[in-house]
Amino acid sequence: RVAASFTKQQFPLPRLSSDSAASRTPHFDVIVIGGGHAGTEAATAAARCGSRTLLLTHRVDTIGQMSCNPSFGGIGKGHLMREVDALDGLCSRICDQSGVHYKVLNRCKGPAVWGLRAQIDRKLYKQNMQKEILSTPLLTVQEGAVEDLILTEPEPEHTGKCRVSGVVLVDGSTVYSESVILTTGTFLRGMIVIGLEMHPAGRLGDQPSIGLAQTLEKLGFVVGRLKTGTPPRIAKESINFSILNKQTPDNPSLPFSFMNETVWIKPEDQLPCYLTHTSPRVDEIVLKNLHLNSHVKETIRGPRYCPSIESKVLRFPNRQHQVWLEPEGMDSDLIYPQGLSMTLPAELQEKMITCIRGLEKAKVIQPGKEDHRGLSYSHCYGVQYDYLDPRQITPSLETHLVQRLFFAGQINGTTGYEEAAAQGVIAGINASLRVNRKPPFVVSRTEGYIGVLIDDLTTLGTSEPYRMFTSRVEFRLSLRPDNADSRLTLRGYKEAGCVSQQRYERAHWMKSSLEEGISVLKSIEFSSSKWKNLIPEASISTSRSLPVRALDVLKYEEVDMDSLAKAVPEPLKKYTKCRELAERLKIEATYESVLFHQLQEIKEVQRDEALQLPKDLDYLTVRDVSLSHEVREKLHFSRPQTIGAASRIPGVTPAAIINLLRFVKTTQ
Ligand code: FAD
Repeated sequence: RVAASFTKQQFPLPRLSSDSAASRTPHFDVIVIGGGHAGTEAATAAARCGSRTLLLTHRVDTIGQMSCNPSFGGIGKGHLMREVDALDGLCSRICDQSGVHYKVLNRCKGPAVWGLRAQIDRKLYKQNMQKEILSTPLLTVQEGAVEDLILTEPEPEHTGKCRVSGVVLVDGSTVYSESVILTTGTFLRGMIVIGLEMHPAGRLGDQPSIGLAQTLEKLGFVVGRLKTGTPPRIAKESINFSILNKQTPDNPSLPFSFMNETVWIKPEDQLPCYLTHTSPRVDEIVLKNLHLNSHVKETIRGPRYCPSIESKVLRFPNRQHQVWLEPEGMDSDLIYPQGLSMTLPAELQEKMITCIRGLEKAKVIQPGKEDHRGLSYSHCYGVQYDYLDPRQITPSLETHLVQRLFFAGQINGTTGYEEAAAQGVIAGINASLRVNRKPPFVVSRTEGYIGVLIDDLTTLGTSEPYRMFTSRVEFRLSLRPDNADSRLTLRGYKEAGCVSQQRYERAHWMKSSLEEGISVLKSIEFSSSKWKNLIPEASISTSRSLPVRALDVLKYEEVDMDSLAKAVPEPLKKYTKCRELAERLKIEATYESVLFHQLQEIKEVQRDEALQLPKDLDYLTVRDVSLSHEVREKLHFSRPQTIGAASRIPGVTPAAIINLLRFVKTTQ
């Protein structure tokens, strides 16, 4: 479906503001709707940029809540967290204060694709997040359900587009602002499903957002439907861990934040995870009871890479599926069975779980959970919700249809806390820049995983919950978790103003120390045989007669900055004093030769990205460029901002790109 083109007459404006009303109510620069992972990052980013910000959310006590798995990071997701941190976002710092088991995934591969991950103490994360949010300068946090948006007449320079200027709460009160960010997660027309039962809810225990969903549809936004689910929780003391595979945390723990050298807890005090597998009996229970499970039968798409156990059994029958048993917190007696999300009726959930090794006597439990009708649930559930086709937003996350209205998080079709946080920080920065009439802050595909995430969403759209992976990224060797600060912190400080002075100074020092270190390593040269004498553990080939640089010696697996500095104390000793600097020099050396070639490719992409398409070009009617009707419709819907982005839209042919390129050159 392609969105109907916007004209003012096509819909009744939800609310039109008048000056007298505006003067009676509080006025903010930015309003953020929703206190989930996108909303908290958006609100604090806007406030850090100097905007008077209001965070409106259903309940303050659910700020920082993890709706599902008690873990952050992972492959690709850990990169996003590092980038959020580089822009001074919250989630990485809070994870360093709240984890119970830190482990880097993909360690056997190169550091470019390491996946920083941690099991998190739910209670602690929430507490630490709320403390941070409630003490952020310029940020007001208020409980309330937003029912509607207030819109005003188009600004003269953008004829045809109306502008958001505030929100209407469920009690009818209004709050005005210069821009609004929507981060409502799974709440737009959310429906919870257990077995054959369905009832409206945004998340277990929370009301859905119906009014807001209707407003967005009336405005002409194209809406889709997705689903996700969560597993039941198991009482820790009912599990027989002694027969299961134990996974211990890393020692030492690698922090998520560039600002931390260590995490809050020692490795020896962290909690283990355990691995078990499903049995053929699990398949049997799923297959026999499909008629009692409406969520599974729905054609609505769920997360491909985090599917329910029912979907796994249907797609891959007769296999033993992994189930990770993960702690929910330091003093929690609950275990989260990762890999077992399901929507079977309650009694069958228990029956299925006890067919799994180690869980033969498992008790399913989720104490104190009540939905908004006061009903309590001890089992897991599925949720179906509206999302907005993300091709309706720009790379700054502002909507094409309504000026100063931004969308971030699961509302854009993504899944995951990290994907939500990454969009949140970008929306917060841009909502603030927009108010101050400054150019948008856009991260390109060549600069970060955040850029890839947003570019994929805005050019390709998504028909299933989108999650980040390293395989989505072309320039993986450059966009590493270790160098996110060099890529983004300096830009965040100078162009957005979202980065603290302390972080800026640290990133600046690190960048110049790395540059200096690399040039020193390049300047030290000895023959292979001399190196072999100096560092016997390095298997340096003696066949080469040419001098070998210290940077090349550092590439050997057995060599690190400590062994190099022992061999050549002056001038290398000083680069071993900071552990992070020494490790980053080793990584830079490892990738030096491949990065040279990648840099050329990056430059080519950047050339295309620099070719801006006219903002208000009407692709449906423009005569001076030859395009097929199909291509016109695609460009009209996605409104790419650059030739590079247009070339990534499926169905936009190379011939169309050449014609667009000619057109751009003649109009510039
Ligand atoms: P949320 O974290 O959902 O926050 C939305 C916020 O908006 C809430 O605070 C809500 O109160 C508020 N809100 C909504 N409407 C209004 C309104 N009208 N007025 C005021 N406030 C409003 N991700 C994974 O990576 N792995 C998983 O296994 C996984 N399983 C999931 C299972 C379930 C059941 C759910 C619900 C989500 C799951 N997710 C999973 C997804 C992950 O939780 C989300 O992607 C992420 O939390 C989205 O963050 P968000 O900020 O966009 O939305």
